[in-house]
Amino acid sequence: MKKQLIGNWKMHKTVQEATDFMEQLSLQIKNLELSGIHLSIAPAFIHLFPLHQLTALSPSIRLIAQNCHHEKEGAFTGEVSAAMLASTGIEGVLIGHSERRAYQQEDHGILVKKIKSVLAAGMSPIFCCGEQWADRAQGNHEVILQQQLSLPDLTEVALKKLIIAYEPVWAIGSGKVATVEVIAATHSYIRELLRDRYGSLGENVPILYGGSCNEENARDIFACSHVAGGLIGNASLQVDRFIKIIHALLNSK
Ligand code: PEP
Repeated sequence: MKKQLIGNWKMHKTVQEATDFMEQLSLQIKNLELSGIHLSIAPAFIHLFPLHQLTALSPSIRLIAQNCHHEKEGAFTGEVSAAMLASTGIEGVLIGHSERRAYQQEDHGILVKKIKSVLAAGMSPIFCCGEQWADRAQGNHEVILQQQLSLPDLTEVALKKLIIAYEPVWAIGSGKVATVEVIAATHSYIRELLRDRYGSLGENVPILYGGSCNEENARDIFACSHVAGGLIGNASLQVDRFIKIIHALLNSK
């Protein structure tokens, strides 16, 4: 299973800033052996097409979107479909990020439809799950994860595209990173759920950690069992920080 690193830029960067970042990152990774990892950036929609043209010069950087609409097309002003995204040449779409669950009221039913539309367009859904602090404090985190991960039947091809990102909501953007014990135990629980649901095919679905992962804690996080890489918010906005996390992943076993 290839390791994965995804930078989630959220609603940051102008076109010029995004282009500058990509040019600097391309230079800094030029001499790195990256064949063992998938390195991706998830910028705002407007950056996908121009950055895809830039990354053609640096094929080791992939692009993914932060969201899509679940319908193929239609009268949905302001929305972007999975097929439109696929036509820009990108590889995947984040689905179910906790900020979208909270601010756009995206519920389980909508998220399942989005996963299906991303797969139908030939891309990878990066499905985010994670409990609130109150759930963890009350010992309900496993129940919450079980509910969030009750996904539909998926073909072998679809399961090979699926990526899970475990992002405890209380750790996102808070600087409050989960301990390695919590990360290891939760990733192993998610692996069990995937195995129960999809048998041996669930064994190879990558599970990424996200939530205040940065250049200082990345090495310890990537060393946890069942952690196949990271989904990085804040620390992916500056090349000098992101490159250190790339090195931490490259040096992890
Ligand atoms: C995220 O938003 O997916 C995320 C992990 O953010 P941060 O790294 O800033 O906590």
